[in-house]
Amino acid sequence: MILVSGCLLGISCRYDARSKPNQEVISLAKGSRVVPVCPEQLGGLSTPRPPAHLVGGDGFDVLEGSARVVRLEDGGDVTEWFVQGARECVKLARLFGCSQAILKSKSPSCGLQPIVGVTAAALILEDIQVMEAG
Ligand code: SF4
Repeated sequence: MILVSGCLLGISCRYDARSKPNQEVISLAKGSRVVPVCPEQLGGLSTPRPPAHLVGGDGFDVLEGSARVVRLEDGGDVTEWFVQGARECVKLARLFGCSQAILKSKSPSCGLQPIVGVTAAALILEDIQVMEAG
């Protein structure tokens, strides 16, 4: 089983209520068993929602409590929802026995580059192989 960022499958779960379909990932999903997730929605944030970014470190630092996730527009702290979403994704990965994850790049939740997101970090800490797609 592979955990996959929902937006890569064409689910309109991004902050701007749009998706980011990736044909390679969609083709993979047709031949594999995948678990679509959107950590930010699972954490309780609405769609659409204001974009946010990591401040003071990466997703690992957020999980340790030494960095935050804040809204770009007004600096409001949304760390709690990002961490909750990461926890829910870990729960689903355990439930479905996912050993791999394909996550959306450049996201404060899902990304690996240029900075590891909160959910990506939580899954890596679970020894899940995390790959990213754009
Ligand atoms: S990148 Fe992750 S958090 Fe953002 S919309 Fe896609 S699945 Fe949701």
